[in-house]
Amino acid sequence: MKILVINAGSSSLKYQLIDMETESVMAKGLCERIGIDGHLKHSPLVGGKPVFNEDIALPTHAEAIAAVIDKLTSAEYGVVGSMKEIDAVGHRVVHGGEKFASSVLITDEVMKALEECTPFAPLHNPANIIGINACRDVMGDVPMVAVFDTAFQQTMPGKAYMYAIPYEYYQNDGIRRYGFHGTSHRYVSGRCAELMGKPIEELKIVSCHMGNGSSIAAIDGGKCVDTSMGFTPLVGLPMGTRCGDLDAGVIQFIMNKYGISIDEMLNILNKKSGVLGVSGVSSDFRDLDEAAEKGNDRAQLALDMFHYWVAKVAGSYVAAMNGVDAIVFTAGVGENSKSSRKAISEYFGYLGVTIDDEANSKRGEDIMISTPDSKVKVFVIPTNEELVIARDTKDIVG
Ligand code: ADP
Repeated sequence: MKILVINAGSSSLKYQLIDMETESVMAKGLCERIGIDGHLKHSPLVGGKPVFNEDIALPTHAEAIAAVIDKLTSAEYGVVGSMKEIDAVGHRVVHGGEKFASSVLITDEVMKALEECTPFAPLHNPANIIGINACRDVMGDVPMVAVFDTAFQQTMPGKAYMYAIPYEYYQNDGIRRYGFHGTSHRYVSGRCAELMGKPIEELKIVSCHMGNGSSIAAIDGGKCVDTSMGFTPLVGLPMGTRCGDLDAGVIQFIMNKYGISIDEMLNILNKKSGVLGVSGVSSDFRDLDEAAEKGNDRAQLALDMFHYWVAKVAGSYVAAMNGVDAIVFTAGVGENSKSSRKAISEYFGYLGVTIDDEANSKRGEDIMISTPDSKVKVFVIPTNEELVIARDTKDIVG
């Protein structure tokens, strides 16, 4: 079975074609600048075909999907003979609200429910819906599955997901903590259990997804019981450009003092805050490491804040679960920055965590970076959201 995984953004569309017999990626690529002019990078990974990397007209997502299918099936760049060989499509959808606690076969009814979730993710869900519709137009009857970033966290108990504001806002408007990165937390926690050789039902895991956007999840017995992102992906840890947790009074103060609108304020909190805002240097942790090494105090402060917050939130989840067996680092920073992993792990001394520096220096593989006698195990597990989407699609369609 071959499954096409699609992650549609407002002006971009990432894809992978995965052969489920071997769970290997046959081709992957990215359409960019959809609706502006258009660019497609298509990389075949089997058959020794060349990479296609050119500007092409992509007025809408429909042309983007058509271009992807064209490349996947073409004699020069293709990895399959025709579209008939693509058995199903798995779509990443950011927000499933309370309606979707697991992945689902896409039907007209599901599309209606997705529309109803749009107010929760006004920037992301419309792009996901456009991507699905474009795919349905171009690919006809090929079965399609939606996999949600919010589904894994639907197991959180009320005490974790409720905000302490008047109950009506939850009841009438669905205002609550939803959490994001669920597909990633689900993948790495499952993989962590495999690496530990234990059923996930017996494990308490803290999963730290640290990328441009970052979130932590507490996973008890395979079920998410708390997570750091909330109603939106703005809160929790300080991130590349997002502020993380913030006193709402600060928003009122800044808006009043500088006479700025709520949209401008949210732009500042989403795009100009986080480690970028604090350091004034960059949202990229590589730049921050370099600046801090050269003595830039604000870059060091931004890094210190990030490490402190990861440790603080992770520690609160150890309390929430009354223990922890393993801590996992994943995503761009978690997979690549040995200095961040080391700095965060130093806070875990009280848990009996000790880090093996040599293991912590390795990259690109699933690896335990704690010493064999460490009481709590620490892992680096490269995340693979596309594989989860493909597996769910296979299970549902198959
Ligand atoms: P996204 O949230 O956009 O999916 P990623 O998970 O790809 O982000 O993470 C991107 C971030 O990973 C970059 O902004 C950068 O800060 C960080 N990163 C990547 N490589 C390294 C590295 N070698 N050292 C430190 N940070 C890194």
